[in-house]
Amino acid sequence: MFEKSQLAYSQAKEVIPGGVDSPVRAFTSVGGVPPFIQKGEGAYIYDIDNNKYLDFVQSWGPLIFGHCNKEIEDAVIDTVKKGLSFGAPTELETQLASEIVDMHDNIDKVRFVSSGTEAVMSAIRLARGVTKKDDILKFEGCYHGHSDSLLVQAGSGLATFGTPSSPGVPEDLTKHTLLCEYNNIENLKKCFADNSDIACIIIEPIAGNMGLVPADEAFLKTCRELCDKHGALLIFDEVMSGFRASLTGAHGIVETSADIVTFGKVIGAGMPVGAFASSSEIMDHLSPDGAVYQAGTLSGNPVAMAAGLVSLQKLKANPEVYDDLSAKAIKLTQGLKSVAAKNNIPLIVDTRGSMFGFFFNENQPKNIKDVATSDFERFATFHSEMLKRGFYFACSQYETGFISTVMTDDDIDNCIKAASEVMEIL
Ligand SMILES: *Cc1c(COP(=O)(O)O)cnc(C)c1O
Repeated sequence: MFEKSQLAYSQAKEVIPGGVDSPVRAFTSVGGVPPFIQKGEGAYIYDIDNNKYLDFVQSWGPLIFGHCNKEIEDAVIDTVKKGLSFGAPTELETQLASEIVDMHDNIDKVRFVSSGTEAVMSAIRLARGVTKKDDILKFEGCYHGHSDSLLVQAGSGLATFGTPSSPGVPEDLTKHTLLCEYNNIENLKKCFADNSDIACIIIEPIAGNMGLVPADEAFLKTCRELCDKHGALLIFDEVMSGFRASLTGAHGIVETSADIVTFGKVIGAGMPVGAFASSSEIMDHLSPDGAVYQAGTLSGNPVAMAAGLVSLQKLKANPEVYDDLSAKAIKLTQGLKSVAAKNNIPLIVDTRGSMFGFFFNENQPKNIKDVATSDFERFATFHSEMLKRGFYFACSQYETGFISTVMTDDDIDNCIKAASEVMEIL
C-alpha cells in the first residue's frame, strides 16, 4: 500500500539527508515508510499511493481550518498575483499585528519573522537586551526551535547549565542556558537562588513537544513570581498553543500572564510565519527604535500575512469554534481511553482546546522523565495500524495531535472504531 512512497523515499534519501527536511518526518520512532503526500482536502490528506487519511497532524499545527480552506486559499491567490515580496512595509502586516494586539490584553506590539525558531531566538535576544542579563532558563522537554542556545540537555544533576544536545553546538553557546525540570517548583526556586544573571524564563505554558503536558497553575505562578522578584522576563512560547488551545492560546486558559509571547504555526495558516510580541515598553527596545538588532528579508511576507489574517479574522468572528474543537478533542480522547480500557491497556489522555495528547502510561506525565516511562513499542504498533486504517497520527508519543474545524463527529467515531480494533491486537 506504500509502494510509491517507498520509491519516493529512497529517491529523496539520495539527495536530501534522511530524505526529509525536518527529522520527525522520517517516522524514525515508529518505523515504516513516511507516506509522501500528494494533496490535502478538508480534514483529509492523500498520499501518492492514493491512500486517504484523516489528518491529526495538520502540518504540525498550523491548519486549524484543515486543508484548502476556500477563504484562505482565495486570499493567498489574490495576494500572490500582486507580487510575492517587496522587502518594504505593506498594510497587511499592520492588519495582522492589529488582530493579535486586539485579542491579547498583554500585547501592544508585534514583530513578524519567518519561523517559530526565529521568533523565539529574537524574543530571547530582546529579553537579554532589556534586562542586560545573560542567562536564560528553559525546561527539559519544552521545544523552542533549533537555535544553538536552545539545543541543550541536562548536564550532571538538575539546575545546572545545559550541555549541547547536538554536535555543532559549542559549549560556549549553551553555557548561559539553565535547564530545569518542568512542573518542579523546588527545582525552579533553587535555580534562581543559585544564579543571579537570569534574563528570562522561556516556557511552553501548555507543553506540546513532549506529548501534551500542561504546566500546573502553581508552577506558572511561581515562574511569574520569581521573574518579578529577580528582574527577569517571562516568555510564553505559544508557537503551538497560540490560537490552538483557545482563541488566545494558553493566555486565555491559565491565570499567569507573560511579558513576551512567541507565535507561529496558526498565525501563518500553513505559510512560513513566526512572531514575537510584548508591551510597547519592551518592544520599543527593538531596532530601529531601540538598540536590540533584529531583521529579516522576508519578514512579514505579504502572502503569509494574507493567509494568517484571514485565518485569525475567521477565528475571532467565530470564537464558538473552540467549544466545538474542544468537544471533539474530548470525544476522541475519551473514546480512545475507553477502547483501551476494554483491553486492559492503560492510556492517559488530555486536551486543551483543539490540542490532544495520549500516552500509553499508567500515570499522568508531569515532565519529560515521566513521558519517557510510556510504552513506546505499543505506541509504534498503534501508530502503524491506525495509519493502515486511514488515520494519520503524529509519528511519536512526544508530539501533540490536533483537531481541525472540518473534522466531523463521524470522523471521530470512525477513528474510535478503528482504534478499538487496533487496541485488541496491542
Ligand atoms: C514548532 C515550535 C517551535 C519552532 O517553530 P518552527 O516554525 O518549526 O521553527 C517553537 N516553539 C514551539 C512551542 C513549537 O511548537
